[in-house]
Amino acid sequence: MVAVGGGFITATGVAGRVAPSKRQYHTGLAPGELSETVFLCGDPARAGRVAGLFDDVTISRTHREFITHTGSWKGIPLSVMSTGIGPDNTEIAVIEISRIAKNPTLIRMGSCGALRKDVRTGDLIITSGAVRLENTSTFFVHEGYPAMAHYEVLMALIGAAGRQKGDFHVGLTATAPGFFGAQCRDVEGFPLRNPGLIDELARQGVLNYEMETSTLFTLASLRGYRAGAICAVYAHRPSGRFIADKDIPEAEGRCIRAGMDAARILWEMDAVKKSGKKRFWTPDQRI
Ligand code: URA
Repeated sequence: MVAVGGGFITATGVAGRVAPSKRQYHTGLAPGELSETVFLCGDPARAGRVAGLFDDVTISRTHREFITHTGSWKGIPLSVMSTGIGPDNTEIAVIEISRIAKNPTLIRMGSCGALRKDVRTGDLIITSGAVRLENTSTFFVHEGYPAMAHYEVLMALIGAAGRQKGDFHVGLTATAPGFFGAQCRDVEGFPLRNPGLIDELARQGVLNYEMETSTLFTLASLRGYRAGAICAVYAHRPSGRFIADKDIPEAEGRCIRAGMDAARILWEMDAVKKSGKKRFWTPDQRI
């Protein structure tokens, strides 16, 4: 493994437009340092655990909460980047990736709180679309703009999760701009403005709360990138229970392995599309 310190390069701005600079301001990454498939996770330590499963790591960059490792697994070039928590950090990560990578596929491996009684801690939730409770994405698109997973990444994640032990669910996620108030956690001294929001979202079929996915999906759609998200359930909101510390490595491990296997499935889908000269992968094309 080659460990390289992160650069701190000032981005120059002219009339509000940020000029592309070689090495990125927050992530410390330069062109050529990312693979086409980039896993995103909030937790910097998780980025290390993901890279620990790669067969080799050739580039590592650390700058603030953005820790990136690039390498390969089963012959597939891969990168993993931690973003830190939240929509604002996710915006920085996706935009800086877009400035140095041509057409990345972005797969989030995260944690979440489940809104439904029948979803258990340790289960996996794959997001098909996300409610944009955050407003980071609203600075780019209309409030009605959908935050959608790319169908190829969605199918790859479903296929990969089905190969893991344990249960998984597919559906809608609410991306919140905070962990406490924005996710209806009633903390003494901090009265909630809209305590009924969690029940409203559950009634509308939303499976989980987390803090990054709708920003990722919206920005990926703007650029035509493929994006998807899979999260391990750490909080069970109907009961107020949190996953036991001893069960976290297993739940996180299944989430990471499903994300990595989805990258393998996408790699095979892309090979099938290429050999058949097809633009889209469809189920009748064998992989
Ligand atoms: N992450 C969140 O954003 N919410 C939870 O409840 C658990 C993990």
